[in-house]
Amino acid sequence: MENRWSDRDAEVMVADYAAGGVGSDLALRVYSSRLLGADARLVLHGGGNTSVKTTVTDILGDQVEVLCVKGSGWDLGDIAPAGLPAVRLAPIRRLLALDAMSDQEMVNAQRGALLDSTAPNPSVETLLHAFLPHKFVDHTHADAVLALVDHADGAELCTELYGARMALVPYIMPGFALARKAHEVFRANPDSEGLILLKHGIFTYGETAQQAYDRMIEMVSLAEERVARANCGAKIFESAAIPDLIAPVAKVAPILRGLTAIAATEADAEPVRFILDFRTSPAIRDYVAGAEVARYARQGPVTPDHAIRTKPLPLIVEAPESGDLDGFRQRAAASVKKYAADYRDYFGRNNAGRTVPKRPLDARPRVILVPGLGLFGIGDSGRAAGIAADLAETTVGVIAAAEGLGRFESVSEADIFDIEYWSLEQAKLGKAAEKPLARHVAAITGGASGIGLATASAFRAAGAEVAILDRDGRAAQAAAEETGALAVACDVTEADAVVAAFDTVAQAFGGVDIVVSNAGAAWQGRIGEVSEAVLRESFELNFFAHQRVAQAAVAIMRAQGTGGALLFNTSKQAVNPGPDFGPYGLPKAATLFLMRQYALDHGADGIRANAVNADRVRSAMLDDEMIAARAEARGLSAEDYMTGNLLGREVRAADVAQAFVTLALARKTTGAVLTVDGGNIAAALR
Ligand code: ZN
Repeated sequence: MENRWSDRDAEVMVADYAAGGVGSDLALRVYSSRLLGADARLVLHGGGNTSVKTTVTDILGDQVEVLCVKGSGWDLGDIAPAGLPAVRLAPIRRLLALDAMSDQEMVNAQRGALLDSTAPNPSVETLLHAFLPHKFVDHTHADAVLALVDHADGAELCTELYGARMALVPYIMPGFALARKAHEVFRANPDSEGLILLKHGIFTYGETAQQAYDRMIEMVSLAEERVARANCGAKIFESAAIPDLIAPVAKVAPILRGLTAIAATEADAEPVRFILDFRTSPAIRDYVAGAEVARYARQGPVTPDHAIRTKPLPLIVEAPESGDLDGFRQRAAASVKKYAADYRDYFGRNNAGRTVPKRPLDARPRVILVPGLGLFGIGDSGRAAGIAADLAETTVGVIAAAEGLGRFESVSEADIFDIEYWSLEQAKLGKAAEKPLARHVAAITGGASGIGLATASAFRAAGAEVAILDRDGRAAQAAAEETGALAVACDVTEADAVVAAFDTVAQAFGGVDIVVSNAGAAWQGRIGEVSEAVLRESFELNFFAHQRVAQAAVAIMRAQGTGGALLFNTSKQAVNPGPDFGPYGLPKAATLFLMRQYALDHGADGIRANAVNADRVRSAMLDDEMIAARAEARGLSAEDYMTGNLLGREVRAADVAQAFVTLALARKTTGAVLTVDGGNIAAALR
């Protein structure tokens, strides 16, 4: 592992922060914390924590000795001084005299010692940092160290490797008891350079930021070399027999997404959906197809704090054989059911006899291993699914390395339960109310500009994961970056491209729930003279593309079995034709009926179909030049033309976008057209 310390970079950071009144101790603490956070082999997703002991001047002008320690919600990779709240050291050090402390008492004592009452909660490992005398303390869950400590004989492996340089702390869940134990171990080993926490991770300490960091890199490098020696050239996992032909991810993902959705308990309610994030690599495929996967993969997490994101155990389904997806679905359904029953049993066993009983969390997996394919991370958002997938990938690497050294062994079930249901860990997940379209996946065609882009933004704001499909791949990328969506280059007039685009969406999110079929363009021509070629071209985009998009989406929605919403952008042309706009209005009218046909044929699948009928919206189809020309033809100013409706107000792309969101949420509405035109009686439906 490379040591990335640079005196120059450190000096620059000290100088930069000095200008803002931040002392050099804290500046260097920020510098080396970021070095640790930049390496995924050391720290992932808020894992790890760091501290420095320093003095600050309080409001009375007194010099106060404080511990600046990572605050909850911050990530080491991009931490700033505000992410290292200062806690008065004297009062929290006195806590060492206590025999025991509840978690609430500990959190309260830590918050009570903050210099800034608005600062984030100091790390749950604050007391461990405080009780150690060293100025700088670094803590990570480095992969290579986990490979050593996640063993029945982890202590022997570490002693053999580190000798007296590192002191060993037995497994205790984080909190006051661990902090006391770590202090006791340090006192017995005062010359140690750090602590190895069995089944958990590593601490190093030093008098300078560089010393603590150097020690971390050296100790982790030694662990890496040890792992490499053991794994030299060996094949770690014996493969189980799997079918030669495996079904593609895009077909498997919607089935698993549907099966893991939690059916509504009331007849009227929506199922609770999850987002899936797929990962694969040769190492992942070796791991998931191992003959003993059920032994090594279903023991527990590689470090305790993964448990809240990944659940204690992954679900393992059978390899999905190509051509037998129905069989796969049936057997996977039984596996999901068994997983849920086992999880409830685990909860019951471990909750029994508690003075303060816990409330069970949902009984769905957060990681699914699929032999022949790879793994899925699962979460209530794309971000959460991505974190679960990242942690699962890390787990694959750690367990492979641990198995190379002997046999992987996690903590006991009771310890796992304590961590999974630890209130301080659950607090990390946050309890904010969900947005109305959270856990939903929306695909929007023509999503890179105009109404499509506004719709992508509106669905993101409503909490949905969004895929922007656009024939202009570069514009789609820019729009995706702006809105936090996924970009998919796709010309909806090409059948293969549409199927491939929906495969991409299914692979990225696990499936699709809402489609806004919006891509369109206006062709003109007097109907008595217009060429058939123009009509056909317009039908290709303004009708057949809608059919293709809807068909691809319905295939995924039916595989999920949790319903869905098809939303079509028709136009007032579909209802109230304008002169010379026949080539545009005719296919749009057909699309209006296409919507009704979907409502009719797929209502029983829980799939709703609705349309938005918008008019006079500024866009590529109605640019400033066209507005000026039309206004002039009517003897109006451009503004009067745009506001020439019953309400006298211009219709904007955002208004149309809101109508799509409204229809996506209208759970008892199908076969309807929502008009967004400021009022135009000639285009009103009856
Ligand atoms: Zn830790």
